[in-house]
Amino acid sequence: MTPNAPMRSHERTAKTRHRTGFLGRLHRLTSAIPGGRALKRPLLNSATACGMTYWLSEPRPTDSFAVIMYHGVVERPNPWYGFSIPAPILETQLRMFRRFCSVLSLDDIFDLLDRGRPLPPRCVALTFDDGYRSSGTIAWPMLRRERLPATLFCSVQALDHGWLWPDAVRHAIRRTSRPLLVLERLPEGRLTLPLSTLPQRLAAVARLDMLLKRLPNAAKERVLDELLWSLCGLTRERLVLPGLMLSWDEARLLAAEGMDIGAHTITHPILTNISVDEARHEIVQSRRILEERLRTSVPHFAYPNGTARDCSDTIRQLAREAGFRSACMAVNGVNGPGTSLFALRRVSGVRLTVRDLVRAIVEAPRHGVQAASRHRAAV
Ligand SMILES: [Zn+2]
Repeated sequence: MTPNAPMRSHERTAKTRHRTGFLGRLHRLTSAIPGGRALKRPLLNSATACGMTYWLSEPRPTDSFAVIMYHGVVERPNPWYGFSIPAPILETQLRMFRRFCSVLSLDDIFDLLDRGRPLPPRCVALTFDDGYRSSGTIAWPMLRRERLPATLFCSVQALDHGWLWPDAVRHAIRRTSRPLLVLERLPEGRLTLPLSTLPQRLAAVARLDMLLKRLPNAAKERVLDELLWSLCGLTRERLVLPGLMLSWDEARLLAAEGMDIGAHTITHPILTNISVDEARHEIVQSRRILEERLRTSVPHFAYPNGTARDCSDTIRQLAREAGFRSACMAVNGVNGPGTSLFALRRVSGVRLTVRDLVRAIVEAPRHGVQAASRHRAAV
């Protein structure tokens, strides 16, 4: 739009929504509740206040649905596990979902869509990635208590080894007494990272996550070997992180108790960084191994890392050919008519408060909502 062009109606609507949007509604709603200033913040963060605002924001039945993405759960906030949600926050979020939303399994959502039926209002599906043990020990009892379905996307190696490579990096940097990490085997050459303080260590973990995730498996394993040996005198084979990931027995029990199981590859690589044959192997075999060892069907898939560049058309086609019914990305958004079932958007649930989560869902890009066609099964 040029600076002097008149504002079109949809732009005016967007601006108005921004000004009077989610927070405006939430403040008006909470100011109508007696209790004074002292109660305002707890009310703003309560499941009821946030759920009422969500209810007012999206009161009608709709054909869009939000898939919420979690990883692990921690008892209390932990800087080493910033991607995990603290248990009290998860509990509040789940209470809000049960009272104000329609939480369905992924299969139930696609069954309704296949039959051309409308989705219930504020339709939500819950997902937990990777296979962290806390998904079973902390999240699953809460989900059962609230009677909410959820899908656990398991990486085979997480269950086999008890860790994924980012956990190994985190462990080595957290436990070492060395003040400096020197790596010689990165493709970019020598890398030196200071490890004297907690912020330096957390920055080193973030830097290594970014560098290693883009490497093919063999190169990544070489760097991991060097890192574990120089910081902890350990080899990968001897690295044990007890209680971090689910065991096969624990995952089998969760499946038997009703948690849906999805596949998340074998080694958790970025699928666009490896050959098509390797990607096919990761996708097809992860499904076969999980179905065999957990004795359950595994109809859904989640792309590791899951940004738009991590799942190309070829990768989506591989997921479809492997017989999956859907595949989730980690790209922020809510799904609507026209969304490919092999490029499902998700909203991260790792938020500080239930208010932030509701706000994220209400304000997330509505992918494909304006399209005339129904959800397409094609990639
Ligand atoms: Zn993952």
